[in-house]
Amino acid sequence: MEHVVFKHRRTTLERAEKFLSSLYFTDVNLYGRLYSEHVPVTNIEHYAATGRVSYDEAVKGDYSPTAIGQSFGPTWSTHWFRIHVEIPSTWEDREVRLLWNCGAEAQVWIDGHPVQGLSGEHNPRRDDFIVSKKLTKQQIKQTFYIEMACNGLFGAGKHGLVSPTDPNRAYTLSKAEVAIFDREVADLFWDLQVLYEMAKDLPENSERGYQTLYALNNIINQLEVGNRTTYTYGRELAKQFLSQKNSDSQHVLHAMGHAHIDTAWLWPYAETIRKCARSWSTTVQLMERYPHFLFTCSQAQQFEWVKQYYPSLYSKICHFVKEGRFIPVGGSWVEMDGNIPSGEAFIRQFLYGQEYFRKEFGVTCTEFWLPDTFGYAAQIPQMMQHCGMTRFLTQKLSWNLVNKFPHSTFWWSGLDGSTVLTHFPPGDNYAMEGKVQEVLYSVKNFKDKGRSGRSCYLFGYGDGGHGPSEDMLEKLQRLENVDGIPKVKMSSPDEFFSLVEKESRGSLCTWHGELYLEMHNGTYTTQAKVKKENRYGEILLRNTELFATIATVGSLTSDSGYKYPQAELQRLWKLLLLNQFHDVLPGSSIEIVYEDAHRYYEDIRQSGATLFACAVANVLAKESEPSTPVVVNSLCWERSEVVIIQRAGDEKTSEQKKPDDRVQTDSRGNTLAFVKAPSCGVVSLVPLVVPGSVEASVNQNGLITLKNDHLTVTVDHCGRVTSLQLAGSEKNTVSCTHPANQFLLYDDVPLYWDAWDVMDYHLETRKPINSVIGKATILDKGPLKASVEFSLTISKQSHLKQLIVLEAGCSYVKFVTQVTWHENRKFLKVEFPTSIHCESATYDIQFGHIKRPTHYNTSWDSARFEVCSHKWADLSEYDFGLSVLNDCKYGFSTVNNVMRLSLLRSPKAPDEHADMGSHEFTYALMPHKGSLQDAGVIQQAYNLNSPLVVQYVPQVPSTTAGFFSLSTPQVVLEAVKMAERVERAMILRLYEAFGGKTSVTLTLNLPVKNVKRCTGLEDVLADDDDSLLFTPGQPATVCLTLRPFQIVSLIAWF
Ligand SMILES: [Zn+2]
Repeated sequence: MEHVVFKHRRTTLERAEKFLSSLYFTDVNLYGRLYSEHVPVTNIEHYAATGRVSYDEAVKGDYSPTAIGQSFGPTWSTHWFRIHVEIPSTWEDREVRLLWNCGAEAQVWIDGHPVQGLSGEHNPRRDDFIVSKKLTKQQIKQTFYIEMACNGLFGAGKHGLVSPTDPNRAYTLSKAEVAIFDREVADLFWDLQVLYEMAKDLPENSERGYQTLYALNNIINQLEVGNRTTYTYGRELAKQFLSQKNSDSQHVLHAMGHAHIDTAWLWPYAETIRKCARSWSTTVQLMERYPHFLFTCSQAQQFEWVKQYYPSLYSKICHFVKEGRFIPVGGSWVEMDGNIPSGEAFIRQFLYGQEYFRKEFGVTCTEFWLPDTFGYAAQIPQMMQHCGMTRFLTQKLSWNLVNKFPHSTFWWSGLDGSTVLTHFPPGDNYAMEGKVQEVLYSVKNFKDKGRSGRSCYLFGYGDGGHGPSEDMLEKLQRLENVDGIPKVKMSSPDEFFSLVEKESRGSLCTWHGELYLEMHNGTYTTQAKVKKENRYGEILLRNTELFATIATVGSLTSDSGYKYPQAELQRLWKLLLLNQFHDVLPGSSIEIVYEDAHRYYEDIRQSGATLFACAVANVLAKESEPSTPVVVNSLCWERSEVVIIQRAGDEKTSEQKKPDDRVQTDSRGNTLAFVKAPSCGVVSLVPLVVPGSVEASVNQNGLITLKNDHLTVTVDHCGRVTSLQLAGSEKNTVSCTHPANQFLLYDDVPLYWDAWDVMDYHLETRKPINSVIGKATILDKGPLKASVEFSLTISKQSHLKQLIVLEAGCSYVKFVTQVTWHENRKFLKVEFPTSIHCESATYDIQFGHIKRPTHYNTSWDSARFEVCSHKWADLSEYDFGLSVLNDCKYGFSTVNNVMRLSLLRSPKAPDEHADMGSHEFTYALMPHKGSLQDAGVIQQAYNLNSPLVVQYVPQVPSTTAGFFSLSTPQVVLEAVKMAERVERAMILRLYEAFGGKTSVTLTLNLPVKNVKRCTGLEDVLADDDDSLLFTPGQPATVCLTLRPFQIVSLIAWF
């Protein structure tokens, strides 16, 4: 007789949970039947490799027997296992799997090919590998190799995820066996798992939720564990339930497989190469079994690594790319930081990324993919469009601490008004696990309901979890179209974005300006030397390319034989781009990552300097013994500046005759001269008479004044600026009550993300640093350079020394700073209280500048208490302002009339030695009349970062004209390089820098035959563009019109 029981929701749910549990009642539940028979593998041999060796080297290793229970280490070491498997002959025709857990990441190799990754951790665990889907006689005896990497998915933090690495961790081999995998049980298991999750996660008061609970309970009642006939019946019941379909109006989740692999983070670059192989070998193996499975994969650098180190895996990947299932996305070299890289670096990320995908796969990505980066600069939409991408995907703004971003699918309008379709997967995650809870949350959290009915769902474990799993694919397949659950459709990004463009183009909202992340704002400052090297590298490579291009054009008419070092320049750019990865440049990686990063920077410095010198020498003549001093200007405006013409102790130049009245030997023993150089050109070094000399004097009240024909600056005994005035003006730019150049020390203890986060409450711990070691003293008195030196104690273990320098003819005063820094969670800043009244400050970014409020009116304003800026920031009222320039800093905060530049942090995780030691950097103050644009702030910030260079070349230049010049300072020539693919052509990149439309004439003092517009990918644009007028001749000219902040790339044939 049937007995109707009153069902209690919780007990019924938990009954189902225990029936599927991997922990409880496995002797009587369904989970316990997944593997019906087990046999231990006993013939295991081990070889402790000397490093991350190749398979070919590993198989030649010296192997000796080992067994379950043995431990292997230390952290980052590699161990290889040779496993001889003997499977019982009675298992013929059954699906047999190898179960292996060594507690660490591992790669299975068969016949020299990487075939699948294994992860040793509990969550996510991937500890099984299919030996045979249907065992044959020939497969009974087999040998495998397993490569064990002694690290977890997230490295080996001593006391948790982001704490510094434990160098001595050992990992224990806990499981090695072969087993029969019962697919019938597994299919039923996945059915019930989906039903269980639906019953659990559908709203508690929903009818559908109860229907699922009863259906699930009924199936469990019908099942007899161990009796196959009941399995068939159970599956039929589940199928009936799951085939109840949704209506047409249901939200569609576009499921895309993904594995977010950080290119370096809590492990070094070298381990990432293996993480890619482990993840992608697993992915292609799943693709062979699941024909509907699609996988999205970003970062050309990772593809290139796999191509180089795992050619057989790469050829399988190529096969699936061709099928449209392994989908390259993002169009960038790596997933870079979104704030700090220069505009040109962004273009190169796209140029080299897209170039790779085009060459290897014939694909140009249409979507920029940056799910995990710490904020997104306002020029990204235009830079993307310039490089062939009109769609953008991220989800990081879901991490905002204060404000909830109001959209999931929207138009993002950048600095110049370029608009890209943008999507934030509403699950707020890029590593979903195929759970009902996630798909329900995705729809609940989708913010543009009514405007659009679809969103993305990225599934797959990242960082060595090896991407999607069999479990996820099975469950998502069952969720495709089930009443009560959003539709889940395996899709490519292109399918998703195309449908949104078609259905919702006119109904989506627009967000203007940067996508600021209200978190991780310490990353503009952490690992200061990385920021410094990045800035230096960006400028060095730019300047090198400029003169290498000029030398190449010149080599056609001279007999210099100079060849453009394209491969080497590309190699250096790629190193720089690699270090711009979103955990390296922001400063959030472990210590050993920075050892690699600085090695790459040193490579860029050394090789870049050699290439630069060689290019400049060849601009003028073929190489012979250099003997003539010249001044090199790599910027596109004429400059007159003080330069060092002979360094202290430099014998090489001592024979040079110098007119003594035109030079100054400074306090360091360097000989200085005032020189003039043409725009983008090289000229003989001729010391000039200075238009107005610089002076230093001590006032009656002990204050020191430095004065040139642009400005007068007064400093007190501890180096603080008490007055800063423009020549001929009575206005003091700095506050009369609070001196500027005031160093400050803040407590800097975040809530968790040490290297990443500076919290708003740090602002309440402001402590001025005024303890003088050496009081301000005049070192140089002019006529070319005046300077004051002083030093301060920061704490018992840290101190700083600063040289305040004013040079003849210069419109800014420089602060050359040396800091010895040994702090724990302290933040060093320098403060400039001004006399300026305004409600917004202006900050330099990629190819332009943006305004941000200086007040805390709204929660959106106050959340931006620390922001990113590049070479300068400015505070201006009508006709008057102050700019702070810098040569390697990125963190800034301006509140009311007070500007602050962030200098050094001291987090202890994940790198416990981050930023400890000595630092050197320069910032400058530039008071100005008029607007920042009219005052030349933008040009002066370039000048500070790209000083004139004195170099020795074989021959005196015959011309003093520059090679490139522009008719207006409103336009900046940001890059000149040889074309990547077109012979005898160069690329010029310009942008409108003032924020207003303009016409410009670019003069090319080179034999140029024709000029056309092109994209950032160097594809020539159609002829019908009448906004460009080329006039041949020498010089040739190009007339152009540009809209505010527009980026223009030109291709010029010669
Ligand atoms: Zn990441």
